[in-house]
Amino acid sequence: MRRNLNHATTTIREKRARAVGELDDWEQLRLSGAAIKDEVGRHLDRYLEQFEAAFTAAGGHVHWARDAEEANRIVVDLVRATGETEVVKVKSMVTVECALNEALAEAGVSALETDLAELIVQLADDLPSHILVPAIHRSRDEIREIFLANMPAVRGDLTDEPADLAGSARSYLRERFMKAKVGISGANFMIAETGTLVVVESEGNGRMCLTLPETLISVVGIEKILPTWSDLEVFMQLLPRSSTAERMNPYTTMWTGAHAGDGPKDVHVVLLDNGRTRALADPVGRQALRCIRCSACLNSCPVYERVGGVAYGSVYPGPIGAILNPLLNGVANGPVEQSLPFASSLCGRCFEVCPVRIDIPDVLVHLRGKVVDEAHHGVPGPEELGMRAAGWFLAGPRRLAASQRALGIVSRVTGRRTMLGSIPIPGPAARWTGARDIPAPPRESFRQWWKRTRNGSREGRTP
Ligand code: SF4
Repeated sequence: MRRNLNHATTTIREKRARAVGELDDWEQLRLSGAAIKDEVGRHLDRYLEQFEAAFTAAGGHVHWARDAEEANRIVVDLVRATGETEVVKVKSMVTVECALNEALAEAGVSALETDLAELIVQLADDLPSHILVPAIHRSRDEIREIFLANMPAVRGDLTDEPADLAGSARSYLRERFMKAKVGISGANFMIAETGTLVVVESEGNGRMCLTLPETLISVVGIEKILPTWSDLEVFMQLLPRSSTAERMNPYTTMWTGAHAGDGPKDVHVVLLDNGRTRALADPVGRQALRCIRCSACLNSCPVYERVGGVAYGSVYPGPIGAILNPLLNGVANGPVEQSLPFASSLCGRCFEVCPVRIDIPDVLVHLRGKVVDEAHHGVPGPEELGMRAAGWFLAGPRRLAASQRALGIVSRVTGRRTMLGSIPIPGPAARWTGARDIPAPPRESFRQWWKRTRNGSREGRTP
């Protein structure tokens, strides 16, 4: 797994750096992207209602979902109303976040993933390990084995050549696309001004799902809104270069409501909160809602490269997952949310590559503080009590001098020893003190030594 990950992330990192290096105004684009998303955060209610009005006026239907359960219920009801038992899906992280496929399966509806990497994960009954390339941890040979074992009507002489593997997936999927009556997607962006949804992708499977079925249902996080059509221009430059290291996406599909004789007749969008307003209420953490899911932070992260996406134990892996999951669900939600903010070396590479300038290390440190506060329920722990006591002594020269004199008395008892060894003090700090050599207090402090040897002379005051 590490070999596969290392090869894939190194290649995409280098390609991304070249693609980004072609633009002289990359930093200005990043600043613009961050500013547009921050504007959205400040007036989210207004932009969402503007989108709803425009999308509805164009013949679409808008549904609001507070959480994953409500979103799943809406989608299941809409699919049931069509009488269909199979739907085709465009890769969408938000539907993984809601566990929509599982909810559909419970309702007797099978959801077919049509993105190649997502299809590999689905056929292998595996977990996605990357936002953009969910099967990044699989080698070509492993994919061949998965297809041979699980893909109906696959050729027995299938090789592990990428073109051969893609060809098999294409024949398998093409038939399903032609029969599908219901398509399910997410969206990369929603434009408030015009009521338009935007999906960018590389394989053309999205275009098939978004245009061929009669019914189209899109589940979209409320933070995906952009105020105006011209704001999209900034993100159409930031996203492809940061994600697939391309100058533009091979396929960009945009639709505004429903149009007779052109694409799906029955068009729905489910606007999902599911913790996003909770994240928005956090003054430091809200910047995570700028995320455009490009994966550049995953591809640059030394921790992700070694452990892979599944190890994060959450839907969103990598550096963005380490902040997004605790922000969406709250740090009190469980052990995953409590441990994720610590799954980082804070090296800062994620911030350097993020196209919307999310300061992930800063948010991680902020969330670590929240985890510690949560663990102590507002009551200070031993470490904090110790730090407060040290702060009190260090804040006043007289108090500091008095404490140094007291330590000097201890040093008379310990004699010439420089180390006291480990002192297993009972209580919560026992493991810490029991595993460390405690140094003996010095016989005199630096100030006492300074006074004794320099005697307050001018020479003595020269640093
Ligand atoms: S945090 Fe930034 S780099 Fe990471 S996926 Fe989101 S937009 Fe991309």
